[in-house]
Amino acid sequence: MCGLDFFCMATKSAFFILLLETVVKIQALKGFKDIVPGEVELWQYLEKVAREIFECFNFSEIRLPILEETELFARSIGEATDIVEKEMYTFVDKKITMRPEATASLLRAYIEHGMYVQKPVQRLFTIGPMFRHERPQKGRLRQFHQMDVEVLGSENPRVDAELMAMGAMLLGELGISVSLEVNSLGCPECRPGYRTQLISYITERLDALCGDCKRRSSTNPLRVLDCKVPTCREQMLSAPALQDHLCAPCADHFEKVQAGLKQLNVVYSLNKFMVRGLDYYCRTTFEFITSDLGAQAAVGAGGRYDGLVETLGGPKNSPGIGFAMGMERLVLLLQQQEKDYGTAEAVDLFIAGIGEHGSHGGFALAHALRAEKYKIAMDHEGRSLKSQMKQAHKACARFVLIIGDAELASGKGVLRNMATEQQQEVLLAVADIAALIPFLKNSTY
Ligand code: ATP
Ligand code: MG
Repeated sequence: MCGLDFFCMATKSAFFILLLETVVKIQALKGFKDIVPGEVELWQYLEKVAREIFECFNFSEIRLPILEETELFARSIGEATDIVEKEMYTFVDKKITMRPEATASLLRAYIEHGMYVQKPVQRLFTIGPMFRHERPQKGRLRQFHQMDVEVLGSENPRVDAELMAMGAMLLGELGISVSLEVNSLGCPECRPGYRTQLISYITERLDALCGDCKRRSSTNPLRVLDCKVPTCREQMLSAPALQDHLCAPCADHFEKVQAGLKQLNVVYSLNKFMVRGLDYYCRTTFEFITSDLGAQAAVGAGGRYDGLVETLGGPKNSPGIGFAMGMERLVLLLQQQEKDYGTAEAVDLFIAGIGEHGSHGGFALAHALRAEKYKIAMDHEGRSLKSQMKQAHKACARFVLIIGDAELASGKGVLRNMATEQQQEVLLAVADIAALIPFLKNSTY
């Protein structure tokens, strides 16, 4: 090799090393999180409990798209809300948005499929990811998940009480303790009068309020009531309460909601400052609050939205009510309980093939047993028996089937019971193996 060749090679390899070193690791976006095995079992448990309870209350599942026209959210959630003003992920050129919540999409689907014709009252739930561009913190993500339930077509106050009771039952079943706070936001009849009174109360104290509240005082004065800034809270302590300004039908409705809650033994308290961040609410609003998650106190929230279906182009006089629970926050609370939610790793049988022939035979056998719904693990990397036994232990395998050249030749493998350490011969046929290993799922073995 001449000197120049050597120089070229050296520069080339230096270049490749440099290239390798400069490969930047790609990580998940800020506020977006993987749910990995070990944690995913908790999510599965949460969903299972929720689905069982939703079913008892006669709800049907609906699955909705993640992208919708931006206009859907602007019109339903409201232009002057935090979500629409600053939290939405929008493709500006396409005028489409990744859903920040589920109610608007669910109502869009309800109207699009004429579901009000099929049944006078629809009870629907949906589970999935939502997207909001917020400052990520514990219990606050940019992609987060909600379980959302909606009852469409009834304005009966019993439905309000029933929904809150269902939320309380679900949280109780999960062992999560919360307080339920309830308020009434009135309706388009009584709210405007109250709004005027509130604006004059706020105007007298405008200088003492934070910048956001100064701005909200004209765009969305009710939001000043639930500002978290301590000085604003202090200023608003003696603000007029909507509960005291309800028109007769709203006051009657609110009384009946509370009577329903009492009848079902649901513990609640009234919170005159709870206004919720979305414009579409009227009458009943509520939140499930925990004291175990610091600032992210709301694990679920909802309310009535009687005019919304019509606003979105649906039929007139279509009342509705719903709530959404934040799954990340529920998972954090479940994690605090330190219970065992089972591992997904335990397998019925580990097939240990020794050498290429053994592995070849085991490969087909694993497939045939899986077709019989056995949970089977095996190694495809030609590792030693010792190493495969280690893997079987890690996978919590109840049995190991050892197949080498001799076993293949005789048509019999060695079946090892990992609990008793006893070994026995077994014919390498699905029925013979199945007769000796119990299903892990159903087994008390
Ligand atoms: P918050 O006051 O915590 O911002 P919100 O009023 O914006 O909540 P809703 O729109 O009512 O929340 O959504 C219902 C539930 O979804 C909340 O009670 C919460 O548990 C959950 N949630 C809302 N935003 C987030 C988020 N960014 N990350 C995780 N969970 C969220
Ligand atoms: Mg929010």
